[in-house]
Amino acid sequence: MIYFDYTATTPIDKEVMEIYIKTQNNFFANINSLHKLGQKSNFMFEKATEELKQELGLKHNIIYTSNATEANNLGIFGVVERYEKGKIITTKIEHPSVFEVFKNLEARGYEVVYLDVDENGIINLTQLEEELNKDVLLVSVMWVNNIVGSIQPIDKVIKLVKKYPKVKLHVDVVQGICKIVPNFDFNDIDLLSLSGHKIYAPKGIGLLAVRENVELTSRLYGASNQYKIKPGTLDLALVVALCKAVKIFTPQVEEHFIYVQALNKQLREKVSKFKNIIINSPENASPYIFNISIPNIQGETLLHYLEEDEIFVSTGSACSSKLKKPEKTIYAMTNSLERATTSVRISLSHLTTSQEVEKLIKALEKLENV
Ligand code: PMP
Repeated sequence: MIYFDYTATTPIDKEVMEIYIKTQNNFFANINSLHKLGQKSNFMFEKATEELKQELGLKHNIIYTSNATEANNLGIFGVVERYEKGKIITTKIEHPSVFEVFKNLEARGYEVVYLDVDENGIINLTQLEEELNKDVLLVSVMWVNNIVGSIQPIDKVIKLVKKYPKVKLHVDVVQGICKIVPNFDFNDIDLLSLSGHKIYAPKGIGLLAVRENVELTSRLYGASNQYKIKPGTLDLALVVALCKAVKIFTPQVEEHFIYVQALNKQLREKVSKFKNIIINSPENASPYIFNISIPNIQGETLLHYLEEDEIFVSTGSACSSKLKKPEKTIYAMTNSLERATTSVRISLSHLTTSQEVEKLIKALEKLENV
């Protein structure tokens, strides 16, 4: 099997798995229990969280969630539902776990602005500047797009939003964390969401980082743990595993970036020579994501064609890939329905080898004469 779908999910790292199993076996107590095992487990919880915050340089309060979908939902609803109405701003290319939340809020009467993107998948900062005012409740802009890999100018978004101290900024950092060195300070962002299974930790764990003094309305009711935003018994092993992944992969960001950049270059150089393939990912996108379209071949058809060679790619966001809708990021960038229905995402990892990339190129080359 040749796996090119690391954007959808990653395998669990060996060291992360080891600590997960060890913690699951030895520290299964409820971290809120008052007996010794509970207290030991709680100590490990506090330590892991502190280490994660230190590694990422975060001063935020950390709320563990089941995944980034939950973190995005709880964060956005949490800020916006404090008010009965108001203006909120996001982009046309957010992951559904942000986009659909805005759609829901729009249907309920909030005024929503979906920022345009250019042909490189980058938001229009002038439009953001024009739409911002002191009454805006929230701005949500993803860091790295999960379809084409475009990297948003979060540093500039921060500068614009900072002019209005009451406006909250949410950033979905799922596809950037442990992959790209940020050119901004996480502490300038009110709410950050990330997911464990994109960074070699298990599925079932993500987090919402909330800046101190940012108040959220509760959507879930229960115990008073986790700032009352995601109450309930935590799985310590999952928390420890997520923190371990962050600790392992954050220091390797640059090294892995350079390695993956070389693989991306290898792919781009060869694929750009193929006459029937259009490259959707801009040159300066995250090297981890390489999106292409082959006009006349539906994305799903290409996916199954590559599958015959045991090569696994994706037609877009795995969550919506079965819906066969045009890919909204590609459509927002290109205005072309054809490109948006024929797109395929190839995603890379530090685990990908140059030989694997070569096999993919060979498989794509065969399509040249179809
Ligand atoms: N945001 C982005 C940018 C993503 O790529 C994903 C995963 N496809 C999510 C949010 C949702 O993550 P999860 O699967 O952990 O809910």
